[in-house]
Amino acid sequence: MAHRLQWIDDEIANLTSSGLYNRIRTLSSAQGAYLTVDGRRVLNFCSNNYLGLANHPRLVEAARAGVTRYGVGPAAVRSIAGTTELHLELERRLAKFKGSEATITFQSGFTANLGAIAALVGNEDVIFSDELNHASIIDGCRLSGAKVVRYAHAQVDDLRRVLKAQRASFRRALVISDGVFSMDGDVAPLPDIASAAHDHEAMLMVDDAHGEGVLGRGGRGIVDHFGLHGQVDVEVGTLSKAFGVVGGVVAGSPALADWLRQRGRPFLFSSAMTIPDVAACLAAIDLLESSTELVDRLWENARFFKGEMQRLGFDTGRSTTPITPIMLGEATLAQEFSRKLFEAGVFAMAIGYPTVPKGTARIRVMISAAHGHDDLEKGLGLFASVGRTLGVLPA
Ligand SMILES: *Cc1c(COP(=O)(O)O)cnc(C)c1O
Repeated sequence: MAHRLQWIDDEIANLTSSGLYNRIRTLSSAQGAYLTVDGRRVLNFCSNNYLGLANHPRLVEAARAGVTRYGVGPAAVRSIAGTTELHLELERRLAKFKGSEATITFQSGFTANLGAIAALVGNEDVIFSDELNHASIIDGCRLSGAKVVRYAHAQVDDLRRVLKAQRASFRRALVISDGVFSMDGDVAPLPDIASAAHDHEAMLMVDDAHGEGVLGRGGRGIVDHFGLHGQVDVEVGTLSKAFGVVGGVVAGSPALADWLRQRGRPFLFSSAMTIPDVAACLAAIDLLESSTELVDRLWENARFFKGEMQRLGFDTGRSTTPITPIMLGEATLAQEFSRKLFEAGVFAMAIGYPTVPKGTARIRVMISAAHGHDDLEKGLGLFASVGRTLGVLPA
């Protein structure tokens, strides 16, 4: 038995010796500006909890009420006995919030991408995909069986070049881009991408995981941000980041939602979103619709932190959103920086190859509305001191 799995030990040893083995930290507190991580209380710059909703009393209460009424598990896939009135209410409320005609929810953003892409294109079709798109888009593209043509990151000229060269040889075409790119915090030039897609009779899909609850009026997402209602065929979002819960959503036409109810494989073959998750998401929409306060605070915090980091002399790359990369170059330096921050009480992740290109290692700071001004000041002070110790900033 053991010898058949020996290769796993060998692979793990390789990862460890090359510094690529991922040691996963353990939390023993709720989400918030501070976390207890591996037994230490640390300032949290790692979570996607943009609006502080993951532990919000209104969401917790809604989840509790949902459980009291319906129990815990969905006990079925959506298409058999797993669709409750709460699931339908969430889909109606998401459509209204986002200003789209219809939505369909999935268990996660990851399964939303797999389900949507594979239902929209197949062997006779072509996908034009930004080279920095998220892993779930890459996997969805592979699953679909369509030919995948990558274009240079956010370069609409390059997208137009490949559309012109390849579009006509295929039946259907789908252009896909992340909305906000998760490692750099830049926003896709969606209006120009949309006109390129339209000019070449290609469907357009955007994955707005980091824009849902962040971009647009009161967090209504990237389509709202650019005023592109009706021009983006497929808008994927996640309920796992700013919404503070877990789940995925695809927004678009009623026909699209209907087609995904017939052909979205994770919808048909994996159990429904759980009741407490659905109930908490409904409470998140209530909060977002009642006030823009959390979204406004998120952006104020992000602008303040990024501005001060730049003033200190750090390079924050091409970010225009609350995702704040601190560009360091070498992976070993980024890891050392992250380790020293952790010792000083700041939890901020080092990211290197293969997640980002070689030589562009960084620390990625995730800013949240849950951070108070004092928290950000404290983080800035510790970044400056570690930066001087490691020679990233002048002493
Ligand atoms: C996080 C992320 C996902 C996955 O969302 P989950 O709801 O966590 O599965 C998909 N796409 C992008 C661009 C993401 O950043």
